[in-house]
Formats: sequence, C-alpha cells, structure tokens
Amino acid sequence: MTNISRRTLLKSSAATAAGVVAAGALTTASASSKRVVIVGGGIGGATAAQYLKKMDSSIDVTIVEANKDYYTCFMSNEVLSGERTLESIHFTYEKLVAKGIKVVFDQVTGIDAKAQTVSTAGGKSLGYDRCIVSPGVDFKYDKVEGYSAEVSNTSIPHAWKAGPQTAMLRKQLEEMKDGGTVVICPPGNPFRCPPGPYERVSQIASYLKEHKPNSKIVVLDPKEKFSKFGLFMDGWKRHYGYGTDKSLIKWIKKSEGGTVTKVDVASKTVTCEAGTFKADVLNIIPFQKAGKIAFTAGLTNDKGWCPIDHKTFESKIHKNIHVVGDSAIASPLPKSAYAANSEAKVCAAAVASLLNGVEMVEPSWVNTCYSVIAPGDGISVAMVYAYKDGKIIKVKGSGGLTGAYDAELRKREVLYAHSWFANITADVFG
Ligand SMILES: Cc1cc2nc3c(=O)[nH]c(=O)nc-3n(C[C@H](O)[C@H](O)[C@H](O)COP(=O)(O)OP(=O)(O)OC[C@H]3O[C@@H](n4cnc5c(N)ncnc54)[C@H](O)[C@@H]3O)c2cc1C
Repeated sequence: MTNISRRTLLKSSAATAAGVVAAGALTTASASSKRVVIVGGGIGGATAAQYLKKMDSSIDVTIVEANKDYYTCFMSNEVLSGERTLESIHFTYEKLVAKGIKVVFDQVTGIDAKAQTVSTAGGKSLGYDRCIVSPGVDFKYDKVEGYSAEVSNTSIPHAWKAGPQTAMLRKQLEEMKDGGTVVICPPGNPFRCPPGPYERVSQIASYLKEHKPNSKIVVLDPKEKFSKFGLFMDGWKRHYGYGTDKSLIKWIKKSEGGTVTKVDVASKTVTCEAGTFKADVLNIIPFQKAGKIAFTAGLTNDKGWCPIDHKTFESKIHKNIHVVGDSAIASPLPKSAYAANSEAKVCAAAVASLLNGVEMVEPSWVNTCYSVIAPGDGISVAMVYAYKDGKIIKVKGSGGLTGAYDAELRKREVLYAHSWFANITADVFG
C-alpha cells in the first residue's frame, strides 16, 4: 500500500469514527513491524483491535483478555427483570481471530513502558510498538464497611460487571417472597454508565410489579440527582406510583442521608444517615476507579483515573501507551459502551497514523444511552462530540433527551435500544 492510499484510508476511517461502520478492509503487502498489544478485550479493546485491522491490515494486533466469555453490561438489567437471558448478552472472540487478530487469554500483570512489554500471569512477555489499554473499571469496596470483592461474589452481588453476578442477582430476585424489600445502593460520580443504576431500579420494579406486587425497592443514593433525572422520575410516576403512598420505589438522596457507609452481610442490613435498612435482596454498586492494571502500570492520577491526550488517547504519563473506555478521563464523554466504542475507533486511527508516520485527522465521537423504564417505554440521551483546543467538547445543538411522553415514540425508543444493542455488538465482536 502506498502512503497516499493509507493516508486516505486513515482519514476516512477517523472521519467516520463516530459512526458504526468505518472504512472497509484493505490488504497490504508490506511486512509487519508494527506491533500493537491491547490490554482488555471488552468494548474498547475489541473495537480498537477490529478497527486497527480494518485501517491497516499489516499491523500485528494482539488482544490479551482475562476471560474467554464476555457478557455485555448493557442490557444486563433486562436479564435481571427476566426480559432476556444471560446467553443473549454473551459474546466470544472467534470472529476476531478469523480476521487475523491474535487473542491471548491471560491476565496482564504488568506493562513496562520503558521496555515496551506487556507481561502476563501465565508468564508471557509481549513486545509492542504501541499498547492500548481498556481494562474497564475496578471497585472501591472500602467505601462501605463490611463490603468486599468476596462478599460481592458470594452473597451481595454488585452485578456491575455482567456475568455470574448478574445470574446471582436474578436468582435472588426470583427467590424473594412477594412483599420483600430490594435495596439498591448506587455509587457516587464518576462511574460506569450514569443512567445504569436507575435503569436497573426501573427493570426490577417492572418485574416486581408483575410478579411480586407487594414488594418495594429502596434506593439509597450518595447523589442529589442523576442522569435523565426528569425522565426517570416521570416514568416512575407513570408506572410505579412514585411520589404516592403506594409507590413501589422509594428514593433517598444524599441530602436525605442516602449515603451508605456500612453493611452487615449476614442480615443484609445497610446503614446510612437516613437509618438502617434490612433487605431481602441487596445490591451495592461500589464507587469506582480505573481497572487495576492501569494502577499497576502507573497510568492513573491521584483521583484514580487515566489522564490522556484527547486526540490520540495516548497516556499523559507514559508514551506509546493509549487508554480508552471507562478507565480514561475523556469527559464530557460518559463512561459508556457507546463512548468506549467511539473512543476506540479514534484511538485506532491515531495509532495507525502514528505507526505509518502520517498525520491524524480531526476526530469526532458520538454517544447515545438508552434506558427502558417499563415494557414499551424507552428513553435516551444522545450527543455528538468534537475536538477543539486540545479537548473533547459537546457539539451544541446535537443530540438531546427524549421529549415529553408520547406512547408511540416511547415504543420506538425501545426498538431503537434493542437495535443499537444488535449493531454495537456486531461491530465489536462480529
Ligand atoms: C448495568 C449496566 C448497564 C449498562 N448499559 C449501558 C448502555 O445501555 N449503553 C452503554 O453505552 N453503556 C452501558 N454500560 C456501560 C458499558 O458496559 C461500559 O462503559 C463499557 O463496557 C466500557 O468498556 P471498556 O472497554 O472500558 O470496559 P469493559 O467492556 O469492561 O472491558 C474490559 C475488559 O478488560 C479485561 N481486563 C481487565 N483487566 C485485565 C487484565 N489485567 N488482563 C486482561 N484482561 C483484563 C476484562 O476482562 C474485560 O473484558 C452499562 C454498564 C452497566 C454496568
């Protein structure tokens, strides 16, 4: 491939990074001396791998991923309500391998920025020219006395990484008696998927309304407000009697003492200023920080997230290492799968440009977050982002929130949500 044709490809790919489909695959005869190792094969990592290969097939792309099975967090709240199965959010890596991407199932234990190597628990050492890190989030268990990773795996799941904990939480909801209390404790900002805890409240409320109508949900929140606040409140009133004596949902915010500080694991009782609350089913979603390997590799700042250049996603701490997805500080982009997917495309364009010695073009990003409040009642928030003066900015007038209630439109939002799920998972794992 000539430099000119590669440059053209990179430009067109980056320009469409915000969209679902980038430029088509190209083949090249040039020998590969361009090694990219990707740490974490979730949404950010798998997208980056796919798009690097599409942009320049001569790049040697290796993903190192801890698990053979990936369960999407998005739509996992529908598993909790019984709307879909766990299998429907399960993805594997065969299709990536078929496209020439190397996938190593192992835990990355270190990244040596000087030697440019990635080391694994299985004893491998992989050299790279550029490394892309997308390890998702880790949890600050110590914010709630008595809670821990072990407790989350055995009796009080956070289910904020989809998979076995999602199945455990679903089983607990199924086994709960009618008239039981579900206590949900969302985290403080910033965290993965800002509307996620409230979509979860809605989905569980929908299940209880139909199957266990005498039950209640208590939400103990360390925040005053949350994403799509007005739309959720409106939906909770419409479907779950919110604000009345018969409300299925009680939401206790920070100023009402909603910040949970302690849990008694045996009795599933949590303590906050508002009082003590005994749950039949307890879901503590811990405060969050960058994925563990980001700390080990020295990629985090004092707030526990990874500072990056907003155009290339290269770490501001270590050269030749890029960070995308939830671990990266890419605000105003949210910590969402759609944003991780969009960031990974821009990062892939940057890495392919850098490896080929061509200039990176102006990037742009897109994000939409759907939430289904009740069957046939979907809402969304959308935004397009641009790059200006070294920063990611929101494009004024783009996107926005779902408008006032309109039954037909709300049904369509649910269809859009499900078709978005099909499209993004095909883009990432297909
Ligand atoms: C309940 C819920 C609902 C959500 N709904 C939506 C939604 O509707 N829309 C939306 O856009 N987003 C949604 N999200 C957010 C979305 O799931 C995340 O933002 C997205 O997965 C982030 O991608 P990532 O690549 O940063 O992390 P992940 O997708 O979590 O990928 C990280 C990967 O890295 C691997 N890994 C980590 N450390 C290592 C290591 N040391 N060695 C090897 N592998 C490692 C992990 O195994 C994992 O596969 C939701 C999240 C939750 C919890």
